[in-house]
Amino acid sequence: MEKPKITSSRGPVIGPWRGEVPEPCHDQFLRAPEAKIAWPEGPREKVEVAVVGAGLAGLTAAYHLRDRQVVVLEAETQAGGVCLSGSYQGVPYPAGSAYFYYPWNDEWRKWYRDLELDTDAALVADPSSALYFRGEFFPDCFSERGLKKLPLSPQVMDELRRFAHDLAAWEAEWEPLGSEGLIHPELDRFSFQHYLEKIRGLPPEATSLFAPYCASCLGAGPETVSAWAALYFLMSEFSPANRTAAFPEGNARLIQALLKALPAEPRVQQVAAGVRQEKDAVQLLVFDAGQKRTYCLEAGAVILAVGKFAAQKLLSAEAGWSPEDFRFFRYSSYVVAALCGPLSLEAPGYENWVAEERAFTDFILAPRLVRDGGPRVMVAFAPQPFPQGREALLHLSARKKGREILDTAIRLFPGLKNEVEEIRLYRFGHAQIVPYPGFLTRLKQTFKHQHGRIILSSSDSEGLPCIEAAIIQGQKAARLARELLER
Ligand SMILES: Cc1cc2nc3c(=O)[nH]c(=O)nc-3n(C[C@H](O)[C@H](O)[C@H](O)COP(=O)(O)OP(=O)(O)OC[C@H]3O[C@@H](n4cnc5c(N)ncnc54)[C@H](O)[C@@H]3O)c2cc1C
Repeated sequence: MEKPKITSSRGPVIGPWRGEVPEPCHDQFLRAPEAKIAWPEGPREKVEVAVVGAGLAGLTAAYHLRDRQVVVLEAETQAGGVCLSGSYQGVPYPAGSAYFYYPWNDEWRKWYRDLELDTDAALVADPSSALYFRGEFFPDCFSERGLKKLPLSPQVMDELRRFAHDLAAWEAEWEPLGSEGLIHPELDRFSFQHYLEKIRGLPPEATSLFAPYCASCLGAGPETVSAWAALYFLMSEFSPANRTAAFPEGNARLIQALLKALPAEPRVQQVAAGVRQEKDAVQLLVFDAGQKRTYCLEAGAVILAVGKFAAQKLLSAEAGWSPEDFRFFRYSSYVVAALCGPLSLEAPGYENWVAEERAFTDFILAPRLVRDGGPRVMVAFAPQPFPQGREALLHLSARKKGREILDTAIRLFPGLKNEVEEIRLYRFGHAQIVPYPGFLTRLKQTFKHQHGRIILSSSDSEGLPCIEAAIIQGQKAARLARELLER
C-alpha cells in the first residue's frame, strides 16, 4: 500500500488510493485456469437467498426480502459499492454517488419514508446546478432561463432554448425507469453528438457544453453515449417538476438506512468466486479474504447484484449464459477527489459543472456555504477517459492524479492555492455502465436477467447508471427470488 506523502513542504498531503480495493477480486478472477480455486466437498451453510454485492442494488434486494433468511456477501471491507462517503474534521462529504431525485410519486415517497429517510431535509436549495464556462459561473444551467445567459450567438441560443423546452415537454410522454422497452428506439441508434449537431443543427461548441455532464453521469462524452440515454438523463435535469435532493454524505446515507433495516449485517471481505446451478438450489464458491479460506454456500436463490463484468467471471457455461451474452456491457472508470482545507471558494450551484477542462467535470462543496476559516471539502468528480481509463488507473499513483486535479482547480480558482491542506483520492475501476448507441436496445430486447435460480441485478441491468436504476433492479430481483421460494 502507498504511504501518505507530502507533495512539497507547503503543499497538501496526498494520501494513498481509497475507494475500491481491486486486489481481492483480481486475485480470484485474473488467475490462470490451472490456478483456479477448487470447490469444497459440500456446502458449509444453507440459506434461502444469497445476495452477492452490498451496493445499492444488493442491499435493496435484501431489504425487500428481510422476512426471509438472506445472507449478503460483499468483497470490500464495507458495504455501499460506489455510494461511499468521507468525513474531514467533522464535515461529511460524498466520496462517490452524491445526489438523487426528490421522490416524484407515492411509491418513491413510501420507499424513502419506510427507511426513515427525510427527503424534505435533503432538498437542495436552488440553483441546483451551475456551469463554469470561460471564467464565469452560469447558475441554473439546466433550464431555459439559465441557458439564456450563456455567451453564445443568438442563433445557437435560440436552438438551445428550443432544445431545453422540448426536454421539459417530452418528460410527460417518455416511459418511466424500469420499463421493458424503449419509447423512441430510433434515438438509441446514434450518439448524442450526432443528435445535437446533425439533427438539431447545433455547432460543436453547444455539444461541448454537455460534455462534462455526459462524462460524469453516463461515463463517456457526447460522441460516445447514446442520444436516447443522454436525452433521458437531461430530461430529468431540465424538468421543472424534478427536484434534486442530497444528504451531506451523499447516497451513502441510503446505504446506512438499508443496513439499519436489515436483520443481519452483510458479510464483508467475502468474494464470490463461482456459482453453479444444482437441481433445487444454487451453490456459491466463496473466498473469505479475511480468513484466507474458501467455502461453499447453498441457497434457494442467488442474486448476483454485481456489475456484469464481475457476474460473467462467476458464471460457468452450465448456468445459462455464454461469455458472448456479456460482451456488450462496457464500463467507465472514475476518480473522486476530496480537496480538504479552510476553503473560501464560492460557487452558486450545488453541482457545479466545469466546461472545457480535462482533469474534472464537476464539483460540489461541503458545506455549500463558506464558513469563516472552518473546514470544507471540494469534491471534484473526475470520470476517466473511456475506454482506456481503467487500465491507466491501475498503474497511476494517487499522488500524480491528485496533483493533476489540484493544478486544474488552482488554475480555475487561484484562491485554493494556499487553502487545500489534504487531498483524498477515491478510485472506481468499473464505475458505471456506458450506454453507447444500440446498447439499451439490445439489453432490453435480448438480455436474460434470470436463468433457473440465478438472478442478475445491478444498476447496469437497467442500462443506466443512477441510484434509482439500482433500487428498481434490487426490487425486481427481490420479487423474482420470492417467486422462486414460493414455488
Ligand atoms: C463516482 C460516482 C458518482 C455517482 N454519482 C451519482 C449520483 O450523484 N446520483 C446517482 O443517481 N447516481 C450516481 N452514480 C451512479 C449510482 O450511484 C450507481 O449506479 C449505483 O449506486 C450502483 O449500485 P449497484 O448496486 O448497481 O453497484 P455497486 O455500487 O457497484 O455495487 C456492487 C457491489 O458488489 C461488490 N462485488 C463485486 N464483485 C463481487 C464479488 N465477486 N463478490 C462479492 N462482492 C462483489 C462490489 O464490491 C460492490 O460493493 C455515481 C456513480 C459513481 C461511480
